[in-house]
This record gives sequence, C-alpha cells and structure tokens, in this order.
Amino acid sequence: MFNRILIANRGEIALRIIRACRELGVSPVCVHSTADADGPWLDWADETICIGPGPSVDSYLRMDRLISAAECTHADAIHPGYGFLSENAEFASVCRDSGFTFIGPSPEAMALLGDKVSCKRMARKAGTPVFPGTEGEIEEIDEAITVAREIGFPVIVKAAFGGGGRGMRIVRGDDELADAVESAAQEAAAAFGNGSVYVEKYLEKARHFEVQTIGDGRGNAVHLYERDCTSQRRHQKLVEEAPAAGVDPEKRDHVCESAARLIGSAEYGGAATVEFLMDHEQNFYMLEVNTRVQVEHPVTEMITGVDIVQEGIRVAAGEPLSIRQEDISVDGHAIECRINAEDPDRNFMPQAGLIETFDPPGGPGVRLDTHARSGYRIPPNYDSMIGKLIVHAPTREQAIARSLEALRQFRIGPMKTSISLHRRLLDRPEFRTADFDIKWVERWLADET
Ligand code: ADP
Repeated sequence: MFNRILIANRGEIALRIIRACRELGVSPVCVHSTADADGPWLDWADETICIGPGPSVDSYLRMDRLISAAECTHADAIHPGYGFLSENAEFASVCRDSGFTFIGPSPEAMALLGDKVSCKRMARKAGTPVFPGTEGEIEEIDEAITVAREIGFPVIVKAAFGGGGRGMRIVRGDDELADAVESAAQEAAAAFGNGSVYVEKYLEKARHFEVQTIGDGRGNAVHLYERDCTSQRRHQKLVEEAPAAGVDPEKRDHVCESAARLIGSAEYGGAATVEFLMDHEQNFYMLEVNTRVQVEHPVTEMITGVDIVQEGIRVAAGEPLSIRQEDISVDGHAIECRINAEDPDRNFMPQAGLIETFDPPGGPGVRLDTHARSGYRIPPNYDSMIGKLIVHAPTREQAIARSLEALRQFRIGPMKTSISLHRRLLDRPEFRTADFDIKWVERWLADET
C-alpha cells in the first residue's frame, strides 16, 4: 500500500478520497488554489500545499505544479478524482514518468477507451452493444450518407475525441449531412485538436443507463451493476439512482457483464463507468466510457456495500481485486441528489458567497458527501456542486420518501440551491413511475414557465 497520496482535486471528492486514505492507513495530502485556501476539506489532510491562483488553468490543471507538489510532500501516488486532469492520458503518463503512481488506468488503457472510435471497436469485440453507425472515422462523405440511409435518420455526427457535448450534430435528412460533418469536424478540431468525426443512430427518447466496473489492470474486471441517470438538465445529471427501475433482470445482467468484459479486455485498472442509452424496448447502446471515479459512485456503494474509492486505490497499489463477481449483489435502492449552489428559479444562476446556514439532514440510510459547512465561502471559480445527498432504503418508493424528508430537513442559506428543485422533481409522476427519458426535466421546466 502507498504511504502518501497527493489528491489533485478539491471539494467533496477531495474529502471523499481523504476518508478512503484514512481507512487504508494512507496519509492524504491536498493541493489547493489560493481561492480554496480556506477549503474545509483541507483541515483533514496531513499536509496541504498551494499550487497557484484561483483559475483552474493556473492551479488544478497545472501538471508541472502538481508533480512538484508530489515531490515536495513525498507522496508516492496521485489521485486525480473526477474532472480536472482525471481523464487526461498525458497527465497519467507524466505521473508515471515522474515516478508517481497515477490512481487510475494506464495512459494506454485511458487513451484506448477515451477515443470514442477505438472504444467502439473494442466494445464490438467484447460484445458490448453499440449504436449502429459508421465503422470508424468518416473519410468519404458518400460513405457516411450510405451508412446514414441504411440505419435511418435521424443520425448524430460525433467527434471521436469529443467531450462536454461539443462537436455533435443531429441530422434529420440526407441534404444536411455533409454540412453537419464539416461543421462538427471544424468544431472538434478547434476544441480537441482533432477533427475526426463519425456517424451513429440518434435515439430520440432514451434513458441514461450506466454500468460501474472495476478492473485490476491485468485483464480482470467486475461490474457493480448499474445506475440510472435519466434526470438531467443540459446533459448535466441532477439525480442518479441504483438500480435502474423496471429493467428486465436478464437484459440488465447481460449488459453489465458485457461492460465488465470490455473493461477487462482493455487491461484497465481502477474504476470505470460504461455509459449507455436505453430505448423503450430496453435495447442498450454504448455512449462512452468514463475512465475515472464518477460523481454518482455513492449510489452504487450503498446498494453493493463496496467502497469504490478504496478499491481503486488498492488496485493502483498492485493488489488484486478484493471482490469476486459472484459475491456482488444488490441490496435495496439508493438515490443521489446533487446539491448545487445555483438558483433554479433564475435559470440556474451560480451562487457564490458565504454560507451562513447549513443544517444537514440525518437519520437511517442518509449519507451526505459534502465539503460545505456554515462559515464556508463558496468561491466563484469552480463547479457549483457543493454536495451530494445520498439515501438508501429497501425499495425505490421508500428511497423517494426518505429523500423527500431529508431534502425537507436540509437547510442551506442565504444562497439558493437545487434542494427546492429536487423536492419537486422527486415528487413528479414521471420520476415516481420512472416513465421518463433524458429530456424530461427540460420539458417539465419549460412547461412551467
Ligand atoms: P460527451 O463526451 O460530449 O459527453 P457523449 O457521447 O457522452 O458525449 O454524449 C453526450 C450526450 O449526447 C449524451 O448524454 C446524450 O444525451 C446525447 N447523445 C449522444 N449520442 C447520442 C445518440 N446516438 N442518440 C441520442 N443522444 C445521444
């Protein structure tokens, strides 16, 4: 096991990693920007080190400073958390070349799965269901037109190296395809330094279904079943739950097993999520693989009892997986609400500033992963998520009731948060019946105004 882990992140995930380190007997070290000098999570690290000013490009995204910080603090491994450099294969390789273990996949496995075209190829081989579409990158527009006609419109043009929803175009007919390919390629070249694009079937109404996996880096991988993240706004997940409601158990096992095979075949080490869209007939189509621990990992921890962050650290330290597939089972239902400091009544405007009131909920089955507390000043520089409320109960219905009461007892002020939105969202018929698709929240909010 490692002696010291440098946490190259901030906020709730830094705190989550600190907790995992303590239980493993590892000393946690935190980096921080000047804007985060008073970050409450820093109180719990063994050592903290400032790596630059507020803007992330000058601090949390500076590989050179992170490596220097690891050297100065005598860390032997670096945990990237999520966001920032977590899915940057160059950073993984810089860590390795500088003598630090990157807690995550090898740069090779990350690159293989991070490129959507090569990922899709590997998925086909592993028997993971993918969208019908072009075999690889588009070289000739005629080939793209032929494929699009075959699979039928609408189709979507996507950037091989895309992210954050950029470099995507929905195309509804032949005549629009050439323009869409060109503009998506230009946008992708400008944003990601690579203009490769491909075409696949576009699903109008779908649920977001994702499989949590963990690999040992030597070809073995297990899955920890699925999460449903259908309640989103502008591709940002708002509520996540596990397991996914109403999915045929056989179909679900099949897709989960295929996801674990894909991760094993990439010789992937650590936690990975294989994301799918699911249509109304419960057919699955892979979207992409996230090569890191995800924000919503706690719902899976609650229903499986597996500590995903600790397992990721153990695997990075060269230990074998501590869990066997046949020992993993699902217990009850868990729901996570992302608590964002933003005003749902004012177009989700971010709310920075001093938290004066912070009264967290509690009780059986209630877990709060947050770095916030009263007296904490939320800096304007970063993501607006200040915590996650996770609730576990025997059934989905009970988990909804328990979440609603926990949300009711959760007081944060004076700034506005997403708590009020969640209280209404969880009570909507679409959510209660799980008769929803990834556009439902946007439709609901648009109907209200
Ligand atoms: P990114 O890496 O930019 O997040 P994804 O491949 O995950 O790209 O796609 C982002 C979002 O775009 C998905 O969550 C989904 O809502 C939508 N999307 C992507 N591909 C398709 C598709 N084939 N059909 C329908 N929606 C899609």
